[in-house]
Amino acid sequence: MDVIDVIRTKRDGGRLSDEQIRWFIDSYTNERIAAEQAAALLMAIVWRGMEPDELNVWTDAMLSSGERLDLSSIGLPTADKHSTGGVGDKVSLILAPMVAACGVAVPMLSGRGLGHTGGTLDKLEAIPGWRADLSTEEIYRVLATAGCVIYAAGGSLAPADKKLYALRDVTGTVESIPLIASSIMSKKIAEGTDALVLDVKVGSGAFLPDVALARELAETMVALGNAHGVKTTALLTDMETPLGRAAGNGLEVTESVECLNGGGPPDLLEVTIALAQEMLSLAGVRVDPGATLTDGSALAKYREMIRAQGGDPDAQLPQAPERKPVSASTSGYLRGLDARAIGIATWRLGAGRSQKEDPVSASAGVMCLAKPGDAVEEGQPLLELHADEPGRFDRAATALEGAIDIGPEPPEPRPLVLERIG
Ligand code: URA
Repeated sequence: MDVIDVIRTKRDGGRLSDEQIRWFIDSYTNERIAAEQAAALLMAIVWRGMEPDELNVWTDAMLSSGERLDLSSIGLPTADKHSTGGVGDKVSLILAPMVAACGVAVPMLSGRGLGHTGGTLDKLEAIPGWRADLSTEEIYRVLATAGCVIYAAGGSLAPADKKLYALRDVTGTVESIPLIASSIMSKKIAEGTDALVLDVKVGSGAFLPDVALARELAETMVALGNAHGVKTTALLTDMETPLGRAAGNGLEVTESVECLNGGGPPDLLEVTIALAQEMLSLAGVRVDPGATLTDGSALAKYREMIRAQGGDPDAQLPQAPERKPVSASTSGYLRGLDARAIGIATWRLGAGRSQKEDPVSASAGVMCLAKPGDAVEEGQPLLELHADEPGRFDRAATALEGAIDIGPEPPEPRPLVLERIG
């Protein structure tokens, strides 16, 4: 096999043969292909795309580069959720224990944040002692005892993705539906779940702001999951404004625990319950997931999971020493609170990273004291910025310019769950 032929085939708009795909993925993962040649092929895929059956083989080759967990020994149906990432998206922290409390085990492979969207692992790492880097034996043990586990991808699941993603990150080749879909799905299929619900975010704070592209990504991932024997559906959900009131690692843990205690903001509950219903329906379990928030069973599962992963669910979370309000410039109705701007401000306050190795602050972030639809008075604090050092506030405030829309009329109510695919 000649790598230059493989690159030329895709450059000229052709379909890669199954042999070419399997050879390329295996050779690149095992360092037999130079990074510049792999980057050239990735860029050709960005421009030329992939046919559905070609992408299926590509995803299968990525999956086959590592192990696929067999969770049958758990003795329960399994279901998971993946979100394409949003601002204030702490759904996983509530959803995993909620679904576990309904008798469906949740093996949740999660990521860290990069850029303006947060990562589930960064949020949970605000809890003293909590560990994401679990061995395969620990994943099985936590899942068997707590019914849910949230963990980081180790070297053994889809190692091809680890290498390809690192290369895409530095070669401008992240933004491609087949490359994103195969990257996400190779990892999610490898984790061994029977069922998977994708939460594909749409709107300013989403990875793909445009609904048509979000739908195409959702349809592509749903097809890949089902082709690999994982019952997969997707919900397109709104990400024009942050989900809930908290954005930032420790702040989001606190808000998640409020939900698990039967409280919490209604938009966050609505999206979480819709995803839980979808997971339970795919797993063939007919119970009301909302009841687990009021009867304490989801909270009990959460506490078990945190403890089983080394964390102390009763520990005080770090609090930001510096706070600064952002107030309404006029009276009226809050019509919009731009998710992307809040995400960038949260990141600049210290909650996010620019490079994979950067540390993140457990306490920095933004609290939304008002949400779209609320009547507000001039001078009323709408946001509260949290940071470890006051020097962070100016750059965060710059990100928020134009992010707050106040007008004389309330905004039209917007649905949170926009579409179901599958
Ligand atoms: N998340 C992933 O895991 N892979 C991508 O390509 C994009 C987002």
